Amino acid sequence: MPTWGLRARQTIFSIFVPTGKKVIVIGSGFAGLSAATNLASAGFRVTLLEKNASPGGRARQFAEGGFVFDMGPSWYWMPDVFESYFGRFGKHPSEYYDLVRLDPSYTVVFGPNDFMDIPARMEQLRDLFESLEPGSAARLDAFLAQAAYKYRVGIHEFVYKPSRSVTEFIDPRILVSAVRMDIFQSFHAHVRRFFRNPKILQLVEFPVLFLGAVPQNTPALYSLMNYADMQGGTWYPMGGMHRIVEGMVKLAVEKGVTFEYNQEVTGIDVVGGRASSVRTADRTYEADIVVAGADYQHVESQLLGAGSRSYSDDYWNKRVMAPSSLLFYLGVNKKLQKLRHHNLFFDADFGLHAKEIYQTPRWPTEPLFYVSAPSQTDPGVAPAGCENLFVLIPLAPDLEDTEATREKYYHLVMDRLEKLTGQTIRDAVVYKRSYAHRDFKSDYHAFKGNAYGLANTLMQTAILKPSLKSKKVNNLYYTGQLTVPGPGVPPSLISGQVVAKEIIRELG
Ligand SMILES: Cc1cc2nc3c(=O)[nH]c(=O)nc-3n(C[C@H](O)[C@H](O)[C@H](O)COP(=O)(O)OP(=O)(O)OC[C@H]3O[C@@H](n4cnc5c(N)ncnc54)[C@H](O)[C@@H]3O)c2cc1C
Repeated sequence: MPTWGLRARQTIFSIFVPTGKKVIVIGSGFAGLSAATNLASAGFRVTLLEKNASPGGRARQFAEGGFVFDMGPSWYWMPDVFESYFGRFGKHPSEYYDLVRLDPSYTVVFGPNDFMDIPARMEQLRDLFESLEPGSAARLDAFLAQAAYKYRVGIHEFVYKPSRSVTEFIDPRILVSAVRMDIFQSFHAHVRRFFRNPKILQLVEFPVLFLGAVPQNTPALYSLMNYADMQGGTWYPMGGMHRIVEGMVKLAVEKGVTFEYNQEVTGIDVVGGRASSVRTADRTYEADIVVAGADYQHVESQLLGAGSRSYSDDYWNKRVMAPSSLLFYLGVNKKLQKLRHHNLFFDADFGLHAKEIYQTPRWPTEPLFYVSAPSQTDPGVAPAGCENLFVLIPLAPDLEDTEATREKYYHLVMDRLEKLTGQTIRDAVVYKRSYAHRDFKSDYHAFKGNAYGLANTLMQTAILKPSLKSKKVNNLYYTGQLTVPGPGVPPSLISGQVVAKEIIRELG
């Protein structure tokens, strides 16, 4: 897998110059971990404060009755980004976890007896396209050639930019690329220039859901996600996605980061336009630099005084948030038929569900949903003969979230799951936990109970995102899925690298 020459320019970071400057990083999600490790590696004295008892933020893990549940992300895409992350410290992901490529990559369920395995091999994928729409294999080649270019330039030129000023993008190479990058065309229109078959359209549009917006509002630039899916592949770290977090924490400790858990930051003290210290319930930590990896809106509205906020409440209320989710972690005491590791249930009208997320926010009439069964690949995440299920229903943020509603949707989705796979499941559930808006708010201070941060719409891309540097507090920086480059595990890793680079450039 190419690393697009990233390593060469990253060596700048690796030079250790003990600055003696104290950095407080708030939050141990991927972005906070990445920022902390990069800064410690460059010679800063870094302390990371995390409100929860364990690291990983939305990617925490818990174990119950022999089942091991990843709480959030389950798709491992863009392995080159992880290689690049560990590579800058002279390491490789294989030193921290065993990665396996899934084949089929995932399955899409269009209806009863209409399950479509998506093969990992390109030749088989082309055959699948051709069987659905004659001539589409050649068009897939053309589509992916463009997507490969976008992936290469997007990952190389765009996502590593701090996006603090439009001048960063005034470079003839980037301006020329911008046309080929399809920034101003919608993903929806772009895809329809290549394909007509409804199943192909759903398949090609699905990765955009990771960006938290509908294809109509997503720039065609993001067909780079199709390259990541179809060429880069779907991978799985044995033991679960939390293995990545464990590897990152190990590396951070090696680089000298001090971790303090159960330390919820309750305020950032600002004196003369500079953050001088960070407070928790029982301590005050002096700081030369503060990096907020907690949800941006929470830091602004709860941890800073009104005069130190970059954005108004009105600004935040007008942002398009990525969806929230209703999740079920289920332990099942039998093996299930017809399920793969990743299963997308597209047997309902996506248009209606999308409308109920973005236009007229409400609990969905007939939701699309996703089921991950990592025990199909990994015997370590469930007792022998059992299945580990993670069920995700995307929802509008800020909905009223009650036990009764969660239970209603549990049965609605399980009815469909049982019918579509032709087996009973509920009678074999021996462990069940639900998770939705209320939990996102209480566990992560998530604005409106969002799951994936801010949607990657055209109007919320690059310099149009909340800035990674405070406009009011000179030594306060932000990282994570509400700032650049956006939601997802790889972007969060990159976000931490980008903010560290800015700090080293400005204050190192
Ligand atoms: C259900 C779900 C499924 C997902 N699926 C995928 C997927 O399959 N693939 C993928 O690539 N991405 C996926 N994502 C997105 C991805 O997980 C996130 O984009 C990423 O983990 C965000 O990392 P972060 O560091 O920005 O934020 P977080 O992980 O939220 O980290 C922020 C941290 O700050 C802490 N914090 C908050 N307030 C305070 C405070 N006051 N004091 C101290 N600490 C504080 C929080 O506890 C948390 O640990 C998924 C997300 C969810 C929720």
